Amino acid sequence: MGEQPAPGQANSQEAELGQNRAHSARMYDYYLGGKTNYAVDREAAEAVIRVFPAIEVTARVNRAFMHRVGRYLARQGVRQFIDLGTGIPTAPNLHEIVQQIAPHSSVLYLDNDPIVLVYADELLDGTPEGTTCYAEADVTRPEKVLEAVEATNTIDLDRPVALSLHALLHFVPDEQDPYEIVRSLLARVAPGSYLSLSHCTGDFDPEAWSAIVDAYTQRGTPTQVRTKAEVLRFFDGLEMVEPGVVVGHRWRPEPASGPSLVTDAQVSLYAGLGRKR
Ligand code: SAH
Repeated sequence: MGEQPAPGQANSQEAELGQNRAHSARMYDYYLGGKTNYAVDREAAEAVIRVFPAIEVTARVNRAFMHRVGRYLARQGVRQFIDLGTGIPTAPNLHEIVQQIAPHSSVLYLDNDPIVLVYADELLDGTPEGTTCYAEADVTRPEKVLEAVEATNTIDLDRPVALSLHALLHFVPDEQDPYEIVRSLLARVAPGSYLSLSHCTGDFDPEAWSAIVDAYTQRGTPTQVRTKAEVLRFFDGLEMVEPGVVVGHRWRPEPASGPSLVTDAQVSLYAGLGRKR
């Protein structure tokens, strides 16, 4: 992508894919050096980069966290994964990480942005033994999310799952009750299931993050960063996996897994994993 659509296709496609305003999935793709973004997304992303040039580090550390937590979960024996707020495919995707360790794994990707659906083919090239699936779902409607999960017939909610909410909940401000959303999703998963979460924070560079929140919110994506204590609250009632909620690059670091010589302020993203008893 990266270019305007052919004349004639523009109007309906534009409205459908939301090309008329910046979208978080495509801005994130731009931070990661991807090509699945439009001029409006690049303008918004550049506004963020001006106030916080390290946003690319944040995005890369976040992807590297997904790689490590995916491998950790696969090695713990988890074989079912629900990835909510998947984003535009960026290799390696979660199924590539976990199916390399456990080829029989099922991975269900969910996002509410139609652009992700357009590229979903790249999320579906899993192993012959395993299952991969993509469906549209909005995290702010958890009962619909659960219906979508059941409709795909790929995940057995009576057996443990890993639910990943990576770089998603900062797009769910308190008015939308994100804690209740997470609580109701976790209420429906089996004991032994995991919640894997990453979340941007203004703890280390409050001025820059307040400007970033404004940049997103003014462009139509309400955004709220949270403190460490507020991120920890999402794990209420779960048993935390060591080292608890930490800045992303500090979560079970491994050699050559994402940027490592970075500061907490550059990363400005908390990450953690909890287990339902
Ligand atoms: N989880 C990926 C992508 C993060 S970007 C990663 O960590 O690399 C945030 C993603 O959340 C985008 O794809 C965006 O479309 C999605 N998203 C934002 N609000 C959402 C909502 N209400 N429901 C579902 N997905 C949402």
